[in-house]
Amino acid sequence: MADNDECVLIIESDPVSSTFIRAALADARDGPFAIHTVATLKDGLARITRTGIKAILLNLFLSDSEGIETFNKLYAVNSQIPILILSDQQHEDSAKLAIQRGAQDYLLTGLIDAHSLSRAIRNVMQRQMAEEALYLEKERAQVTLNSIGDAVISTDIAGNVTYLNIVAERMTGWPLAEAKGQPFTTVFHLIDGVTRERLTDPMIMAINENQSVGLNINSVLIRRDGFEAPIEDSAAPIHDRGGHVTGAVIVFHDVSEARSMVQKMSHSAQHDYLTDLPNRLLLNDRLTQTIALAHRSHKHLAILFIDLDHFKDINDTMGHLIGDKLLQSVAKRLSAAVRHSDTVSRQGGDEFIILLNDVEHAMAAGYSASKILSTMAEQHTVDEHNIDVTISIGISIFPEDGTDAETLLKNADAAMYHAKENGRNNYQFFKQDMHDKAVERLFLERGLRQALMHNEFILHFQPKVNLQTGVITGSEALIRWLHPTRGLLLPEQFIKIAEESGLIVPIGQWVLREACRQARAWHNLGLARIPIAVNISSVEFRQETLLDNIRTALAETGLEPQYLEIELTESVLLQNIESTTSVLHALKDIGIQIAIDDFGTGYSSLSYLHHFPVDTLKIDQSFVRDMDKGNGEATIVSAIIGLGNNLKLRVSAEGVETQNQLAFLQAERCEEGQGVYFAPPVDAQAFATRLGTSNIAYNLH
Ligand code: C2E
Ligand code: MG
Ligand code: MG
Repeated sequence: MADNDECVLIIESDPVSSTFIRAALADARDGPFAIHTVATLKDGLARITRTGIKAILLNLFLSDSEGIETFNKLYAVNSQIPILILSDQQHEDSAKLAIQRGAQDYLLTGLIDAHSLSRAIRNVMQRQMAEEALYLEKERAQVTLNSIGDAVISTDIAGNVTYLNIVAERMTGWPLAEAKGQPFTTVFHLIDGVTRERLTDPMIMAINENQSVGLNINSVLIRRDGFEAPIEDSAAPIHDRGGHVTGAVIVFHDVSEARSMVQKMSHSAQHDYLTDLPNRLLLNDRLTQTIALAHRSHKHLAILFIDLDHFKDINDTMGHLIGDKLLQSVAKRLSAAVRHSDTVSRQGGDEFIILLNDVEHAMAAGYSASKILSTMAEQHTVDEHNIDVTISIGISIFPEDGTDAETLLKNADAAMYHAKENGRNNYQFFKQDMHDKAVERLFLERGLRQALMHNEFILHFQPKVNLQTGVITGSEALIRWLHPTRGLLLPEQFIKIAEESGLIVPIGQWVLREACRQARAWHNLGLARIPIAVNISSVEFRQETLLDNIRTALAETGLEPQYLEIELTESVLLQNIESTTSVLHALKDIGIQIAIDDFGTGYSSLSYLHHFPVDTLKIDQSFVRDMDKGNGEATIVSAIIGLGNNLKLRVSAEGVETQNQLAFLQAERCEEGQGVYFAPPVDAQAFATRLGTSNIAYNLH
């Protein structure tokens, strides 16, 4: 038999007894046992240092050792192997003593038969195996508990700690050895993170209620050294096999990261990324709450709807990065200008909304608004730029101008529009007619979105006339909207809305193409070849696609470039002189004409004119209209004509309505005119008919 094979070791000096035992075990009914026999303790000790012994049959009285000492020596070397004592009746006391010291059982040599001997051995071996299995299982559980990320603590039924895993040791600051036997609440100090109050002991609850106890969402664990960690925990009772509660176990983990993530996420969901001000969502929340409060306490609150004036120009000319920084600077000033308890929020773009809770009366809101306007008057320094920016403010008051958030916001918005129309850099209180206007605006904007698709736009054409000869020198294409329910709408009723909503871009593209197509069609009919002028608004001019659009329109319609003229207003030209100049040169390179429209109403800095490759100045109709009223308009008209002539530009007068006006313009040597005195804008058919007459000159007298 190999040294390490499984076997029962018999240590017995008496050869008769050992022969008897061997024979009994070899015959055993419940399976033969492998047996190894030694006659001395010395040999026995030597044998058990090697593995494979499943049980020992030991006679305490051997040739080299006697009594309990024999057991002690053996046990000291290996206490794991179960030992059965073989004893005669005379030494029964020693056998009993051995049992107290750890032997499994004793057998009286005179009384045992083969059957009971083998059964006794089998029993101790099985018990040993079960214990080993239990030990292994315990060890495995221990390893598992220590390797999981969660902390685990268990208590007995009295609530005293029986076990902590490594994570629990770390999180509580209590090593298992010290914690064992301590009341659970000494080791586990749990408070509500919000109220700072101590939370009820979850273990006792689990024991008392005999069921799992869920977590308090604000649980904070205080470590032995005072360090605090938010945790998530759940406790459950422990039962014995009979189903009786014997203690409780709590499992918990650190949620600092998850909780701070949640906080970050909820912050970013409610705040604007650029300025860190509350966003629309949070404002709506606060507004709803404040309204409810104001309602109960019969107080007033005010909404200030704020929009930066000409912010788009700043963004376009200085770039988005500067634009963003300017918004941050504006946000700071707005916040500094109101009380801490008021809410300054950013709605997006260049729109801010301030909620003033608890204003005494409308005047107080007006006072706040003028204070804000004056803080804006100072220049903003963004990088190395000094930027002037003004704002327009619309104010609505609860409950006078609305009793719900939506109405108050809408009305403040309408008032803000009014402030814009009123020259910007001012504030306006909401009035009912503003609401009507806002509704109208919305109605038209919705309609505009459909209009292109439904072919609701048409062009009318108005002749430009040589003021000396009366000959038609050109035409201006003017858009009209055939509204499905309102009938024919003029540009003043919708162009601004189109510009503000960006719809002007596709609309302008349509106008350009349609004008080119019409001009080319007239050429094809053999009618007088005159240039066609198209109005381009500032939004369109700033589009990168402008040049391409013009080239495409010309190429696809076959109109020669010299027959296309574009009309731009002074303000468009002045927005970003450098890029404007290069676009204008590119337009000239294409071969088209450029006119400055509504000249005299813009910045009137005439000195810039020679920088730009323009062909025509169109004197604004307001000067022409009032020329004969003696308010200086006549002088301005003369000056513009003189300037234009000096710069070798064609000068054209808009809005010529009377014989007097014509005579004055003629005397001043204004080359061209346009106005109802000659002809109003008419549709393409009527214009073609006029062009088709044999003499296309108007009678000037
Ligand atoms: P504008 O370019 O200065 O066009 C001249 C305006 O004066 C036209 O108004 C024309 O009908 C009007 N008018 C013509 N003769 C007389 C007259 O004798 N007396 C008076 N008081 N007015 C006269 P309309 O067609 O209502 O267009 C208004 C403005 O809308 C235009 O001013 C132009 O700035 C803009 N607009 C027109 N069509 C377009 C377009 O297709 N695109 C863009 N972006 N703007 C357009
Ligand atoms: Mg025009
Ligand atoms: Mg004009």
